[in-house]
Amino acid sequence: MSDIIHVLPDHVANQIAAGEVIQRPASVIKELVENSIDAGADSIQVVIKDAGRTLIQVIDNGKGMSESDARIAFERHATSKIKSADDLFALHTMGFRGEALASIAAIAQVELRTRREEDEVGTLVEIAGSKIENQTTVSCPVGTNFAIKNIFFNVPARRKFLKSNTAEFAKIESEFNRIALVYPQIEFELIHNGQICMSLKKGTYKERINSVFKNIKGFGSQLFSINVDSSLAKIYGFAGKPETAKKKNDRQYFFVNGRFMKHSYFHSAVIQAYGTMLQPGTSPDYFIYFEIDPESIDVNIHPTKTEIKFENEQSIWPLVMSGVREGLGKFNIAPSIDFDREGADDIPVFSPRGNHSIHAPQVEIDPTYNPFEQENDHSASHSGSTPSYQPRKKSSIGWENLYEGFESSSWRPSESEDFTNGDNDFFVGQGDVEIEPSFVTEEEPEAIQGTMEMKSHTEEAHQEYLQLKNKYILTPVKSGLMCIDQHRAHTRILYDQYISRISQKQSATQQLLFPEIIELSEAESMLLEDAMEDLQYIGFDLAALGKNTYSINGTPANLEGGSPKEYITNIITTLKESRLDFKSQVTQQVALSMAKLAATPYGRTLDSKEMMYLVSNLFMSAEPNFTPDNKLIIKIFSTDDIEKGFK
Ligand code: ADP
Ligand code: MG
Repeated sequence: MSDIIHVLPDHVANQIAAGEVIQRPASVIKELVENSIDAGADSIQVVIKDAGRTLIQVIDNGKGMSESDARIAFERHATSKIKSADDLFALHTMGFRGEALASIAAIAQVELRTRREEDEVGTLVEIAGSKIENQTTVSCPVGTNFAIKNIFFNVPARRKFLKSNTAEFAKIESEFNRIALVYPQIEFELIHNGQICMSLKKGTYKERINSVFKNIKGFGSQLFSINVDSSLAKIYGFAGKPETAKKKNDRQYFFVNGRFMKHSYFHSAVIQAYGTMLQPGTSPDYFIYFEIDPESIDVNIHPTKTEIKFENEQSIWPLVMSGVREGLGKFNIAPSIDFDREGADDIPVFSPRGNHSIHAPQVEIDPTYNPFEQENDHSASHSGSTPSYQPRKKSSIGWENLYEGFESSSWRPSESEDFTNGDNDFFVGQGDVEIEPSFVTEEEPEAIQGTMEMKSHTEEAHQEYLQLKNKYILTPVKSGLMCIDQHRAHTRILYDQYISRISQKQSATQQLLFPEIIELSEAESMLLEDAMEDLQYIGFDLAALGKNTYSINGTPANLEGGSPKEYITNIITTLKESRLDFKSQVTQQVALSMAKLAATPYGRTLDSKEMMYLVSNLFMSAEPNFTPDNKLIIKIFSTDDIEKGFK
């Protein structure tokens, strides 16, 4: 028999790699604009036609490329940005894999015009489907001009995959904003089908935020500033007044060292800072910039990855929380600190090549600062009008406060609140405290031992709970009657716990006395392998026995109902049905299906301890209102509506 293995030709390999880096026109724009920034440009123009389908052009005034660099740039792993693996750890530039241009050239027709200052003439390179078709000298200004035509012209399957022009343009705009908002010292322009959509002059951060969102009247004046300078990180930026918070908010931006990131753990710190001031289910606008020693964050190997892992997340969380709270407090005390005011202090502009070593602590946070102490004392009269059976508040920062109006004077961090002290019960949340994933049952009250704070909460608060139809937990709150779906609430709690375990790589397993053997098909076994690591952190102890057979030696503690085998097969079935492309999606799906399976079912009678456990843990979530798959968990029937019912 002849040999059957052969090495893929470069253009095929490039096309495969392109699938990873370039999903749509917006990804091309991201890669090209990031390259322009790395090339030191201070003016970048993005011109597109038909939402990028027919043309994407990025023009910069950066340092340009030499004739030979202009050609080599398109080769895979061609980069001027790193020379050794060590460089990866001290990286200040945007891209560093040397894959973007090779990927773009593999799936589109590309024209590159570029000239360096020292060269008299520039170079034109034309390349399509990874093949150089032409290289000549041209006259062109200093800088680089990339024109990408007919994206996916040679990959019809991917071209078909593109969404409507409106949807693709929205993605482009959001990618553009993510970059523009963090480089206010660079001038940007976005032109679509001959129309200028965005024209951003150089300026300060606040001016940039204002001009990006200039369609929203008075946007800037709805923001307050945040400034934290600590030895761990510099954190600065702006966040929106609580009244402007909304459901499904897409104006939430974190940036780290000049790069957009998503960070649900820090998001929870922002939400926590607002406390009771947010209406249920809403979240505020924010633009928060972190400057941090690049060695203390996870190297971003995947170019499309926006989740970034910090080494000191748990120590930074309280800085974010108190920074936002302090800004909010100052703003409430002196709303006259006008965002738009001339000469108001601005935060310094981030410079990717500048020296941003982290300073020794200068202005530390005042741990005793409580922005709401003097304010709103008039609320005493307000509370007089509320029904006498409103929840009693024994604990100073119980969940029940989350659902009270901002006017309430009862919301007040305890005397001892210390933002630098991780023991404070305010910081019980994802990550910093190990929360037992099991459901607390009568037989095992010590199951919550792991969370001391939890316990004191539950002991102190004598909240009244009623169970309705073995399905809902009812409890009065200040604004009316709160109704919580028990299964969904528990799903949210478990999901958060699983995700936190996976991200912190901690597992806790209960060994089975009699391991169970599970036999899978080839395809199922591949799915299981993908999810293996996540399942292990969730608490499964699985061993491969070969031939797609596995032994389940341990499970997460206190799984109710169902055999371990059923759990695993169920998870595999969901993975099979959901066909996921990315690791992070697999993780979320694994955590979600596991949470759904393990959550207390409908029809189960809960005792008061169990209800208390569910409710207090639910309100430690950053997203108590919705399950990870967006189902409503909490509904409040307002006193008004109830009163109307009696008219
Ligand atoms: P990376 O950005 O990871 O180095 P790319 O494929 O995006 O890889 O780019 C390859 C190289 O091409 C860059 O390292 C840089 O030297 C050069 N380059 C790309 N775009 C520009 C530009 N706009 N101006 C100057 N040089 C550029
Ligand atoms: Mg790049």
